[in-house]
Amino acid sequence: MASGPSRQAGLLAVFGSLCSLPRSRLAAHVFRNSCNDVDKGRGKFSWCKIARGQIIGHNFDTEWSRRKVAADWSNTVHEICSSQLWSSVQAAVRQKSTLLLFADLKPSVGVEPWLKHGVQHPGAQVKLRLRSGCAPLMLRVGPRNGIPEPMRVCPFCDDRQLESEEHVVSSCSLYSDLRERCMARLRSIAEPAAVGALPVWLRQPSDTDLVDACLGSKCWELPAQVAPAAEQCVQNYLRLLWARRSKLWARVCRDGDEWRL
Ligand SMILES: [Zn+2]
Repeated sequence: MASGPSRQAGLLAVFGSLCSLPRSRLAAHVFRNSCNDVDKGRGKFSWCKIARGQIIGHNFDTEWSRRKVAADWSNTVHEICSSQLWSSVQAAVRQKSTLLLFADLKPSVGVEPWLKHGVQHPGAQVKLRLRSGCAPLMLRVGPRNGIPEPMRVCPFCDDRQLESEEHVVSSCSLYSDLRERCMARLRSIAEPAAVGALPVWLRQPSDTDLVDACLGSKCWELPAQVAPAAEQCVQNYLRLLWARRSKLWARVCRDGDEWRL
């Protein structure tokens, strides 16, 4: 991401956008709650904590306390940051494209092993949606609803992380129990075919391992006799995870449309 003056200016611009959001919007609600938390000395890792320091540092104490900026706020921000720096902020945000996830997970050409077995399983359909950036996560829904990137955080846990595909499958605490069950089951599937110890990614999976297993073809690195069962286990996890999230998501989106907040 951007750093130094460009980051400060980007932060001020985002603050202005958030202040201007209608109160009925989820992002406005999350933003005001986060600001209140920071004012009460909480939200140690919150974006608003950083924002507060910058905004007050630029003598915008009133704007911070009222969560309101003047109509010409963007001009004020432009005075603080040159147009060149502003472009670099925008460019850094644009780098997070849907295609990056696909490129990260598909290092070679050809059809991936998990896709060869079809997408009839509901979990395979979830996997496909996540892989193609077509699942309505905050990261994807945010741009369509004018929610700035720093506010596209996961609404279902306290981690304050961007709700990306990676966050959902590998680290969101809303699904910890499902994830742990899935990994335990994967180990029991892989154990009978293992020569020696199980691979590290099964014993102590990193976030990257979990993403590769859930959204890539990591399971197909296991011996051929157990790989299909391992893939199915992962797809079951995705099915259960998605069912849980869908129920909660329905409460925050508008008019029954999963892409509207
Ligand atoms: Zn989360």
